[in-house]
Amino acid sequence: TGKRAFIAGVADDNGYGWAIAKALAAAGAEILVGTWVPALNIFETSLRRGKFDESRKLPDGSLMEIAKVYPLDAVYDTPEDVPEDVKTNKRYAGASNWTVKEVAETVKNDFGSIDILVHSLANGPEVTKPLLETSRRGYLAAISASSYSFVSLLQHFLPIMNPGGASISLTYIASERIIPGYGGGMSSAKAALESDTRVLAYEAGRKGKIRVNTISAGPLGSRAAKAIGFIEKMIEYSYVNAPLQKELLAAEVGNTAAFLVSPLASAVTGSTIYVDNGLNTMGLAL
Ligand code: NAD
Repeated sequence: TGKRAFIAGVADDNGYGWAIAKALAAAGAEILVGTWVPALNIFETSLRRGKFDESRKLPDGSLMEIAKVYPLDAVYDTPEDVPEDVKTNKRYAGASNWTVKEVAETVKNDFGSIDILVHSLANGPEVTKPLLETSRRGYLAAISASSYSFVSLLQHFLPIMNPGGASISLTYIASERIIPGYGGGMSSAKAALESDTRVLAYEAGRKGKIRVNTISAGPLGSRAAKAIGFIEKMIEYSYVNAPLQKELLAAEVGNTAAFLVSPLASAVTGSTIYVDNGLNTMGLAL
């Protein structure tokens, strides 16, 4: 209640970012979102035209309000980092101030401070390729968009985060167990994200009294997951093999995120928390 959250990685109403936004809104937080620049127009248009109204419904019957949508491309830290072809690209030229540093500055100018930072984004251009066939460029792009993007966001937002605040990211068990098909260096990127969660928990804890945790989520048929190509199989596998044989709802990840960024979790930091119907605990499923 009374808290302000910036959620990076919301571009439709299907993914974990949207579900986290809803859970935080239901708990009384003010919601700001960061939307990938190429997806900005369609997201804002859909919002304006009421396409998400049904999924904006909160438990008390009101509709989730998004105080502001910020264009964001988390692979660029400052305007100097943006290559000419991106700058002049039609999908980017219409928006401004979308590098991580500029977004943090704009949020500071608009609202002064935040309490909660959520990283719900990932991208791996070669995700469908096995690691053995992944190029250096593809691997580094996966790490840049999916791991360093969190380091950069926390780096730039920490100075405007109120002490006692918290950040959260989304990871996947492919970081620690072999998930054939989760390729292109995405498994490596999630391993980096989880390791960074620990180191950043220490650094941000000491520097700003900010907690840093990551949720290892089970499979969800989001837009990003569909790009991997076998999400339906992963969902079915989980349903058959997990201790809890039920569909995993995005809202369940949203609720865990709301807990983790709340005072109820005031001593939890540096942790990877599984929200996967328990699938990660299985050795052999019968
Ligand atoms: P999603 O499509 O809702 O979210 C991914 C978002 O990242 C999209 O909105 C996309 O526009 C944005 N994005 C991509 N590159 C970006 C960039 N450079 N700058 C800013 N935004 C960028 O899909 P999701 O599955 O909900 O993904 C959210 C997080 O959850 C990701 O970290 C993903 O790896 C993680 N996750 C997903 C699953 C799953 O099965 N869906 C499982 C475990 C973890």
